[in-house]
Amino acid sequence: MKKTISILLLLASICSVLSAFSACGNKQNDEKEEYTTRSQTVSYAHFNTVTILSSYGAATAEEFAAYVKTVDEMLGHYHKLFDIYYEYAGVNNIKTINKNAGKEPVAVEEELIVFLEYCKELYAVTKGQTNILFGSVLKLWHDARETADETAGYLDKSLLPTEDALAEAAKHTSIDLLVIDKEAKTVYISDPAASIDVGAIAKGYAASKVAEKLKADGADAMALNAGGNIVTIGLKPGNEQWITGIKNPNGTEANSLICRVKLGETSLVTSGNYERYFLSDGKIYHHIIDPETRMPAEHFASVSVFTPNGGLADALSTALFCMSYEEGLALIEEIDGVEALWVCHDGTIKMTKGVSLVND
Ligand code: ADP
Ligand code: MG
Repeated sequence: MKKTISILLLLASICSVLSAFSACGNKQNDEKEEYTTRSQTVSYAHFNTVTILSSYGAATAEEFAAYVKTVDEMLGHYHKLFDIYYEYAGVNNIKTINKNAGKEPVAVEEELIVFLEYCKELYAVTKGQTNILFGSVLKLWHDARETADETAGYLDKSLLPTEDALAEAAKHTSIDLLVIDKEAKTVYISDPAASIDVGAIAKGYAASKVAEKLKADGADAMALNAGGNIVTIGLKPGNEQWITGIKNPNGTEANSLICRVKLGETSLVTSGNYERYFLSDGKIYHHIIDPETRMPAEHFASVSVFTPNGGLADALSTALFCMSYEEGLALIEEIDGVEALWVCHDGTIKMTKGVSLVND
């Protein structure tokens, strides 16, 4: 619930910023072209979050409705494929693969093979900080959060995952336990105590794939916001950059944004300590777990990553959240076309050279 409210606030702020764009532009030959701002909530269900599509260009109401339908169908499909909690009729998904860990390979559709292979690549790119085979450890934290949810988000200290339980679970998190057979189109987890959790990558990856499809279908000057994972398609009318807000991790309604940034055609993904958490003994236990300590990562309040590939942006936002600023900076300097913005616990902002802040 907490997450839904914070996302709605974020979306409200983003929409108010994005909706400031002009609704009318000029063609080069001076013939006037009408631009209409259209925005629609596509779904509250996909990836258990709110998805909004906004158009600032020349799309007609009919064209926009068709784009909304595409977003709805594609995100619904990815949600089913990447779900770790539920299975669906007629599709073998990640839950099916987890259920068969240590038992047998599972036949899956090509799209899931491609995604899981990419997740393996991202493990290497993020130096092991974003590890989809981290499921056994993440489950302990997830279960603690569910228990806390039953008592208004507070958990008695005695119910926190113990160091021993975390260390035991961590023995079953090697990325090599994931066996992908491209020829046979099967996926197998070779340890019954291991499991996949794609929460760190799935949303950004899916949002980016959807945006690619919209663009191929002719979309322009649109922004897709899947639970705070933003993808822009084209630029805003007049070839101007987009402007969006970064949430203030310690903000209230009055100062909900810590800063505003200009974006080209790209993805923007933020990982924050305010998204999903519980409290125990006065301390916040959030949902991004440092693979080294197996505890919620404590370096920052949030990290935002900007890069056109949404899967990479999502994986990096989680990874940078688990690293010191120096390590994170060194990592993204190795990768082309990636910018990042870190919000420290005291509200200080650090960012790479290519981030363009809006100075009010
Ligand atoms: P959000 O899902 O809120 O957008 P993230 O992209 O940072 O935030 O993903 C967090 C989710 O990723 C967690 O809920 C959990 O499922 C998973 N996760 C947490 N820590 C890690 C990690 N170190 N490696 C891989 N997955 C993680
Ligand atoms: Mg992420």
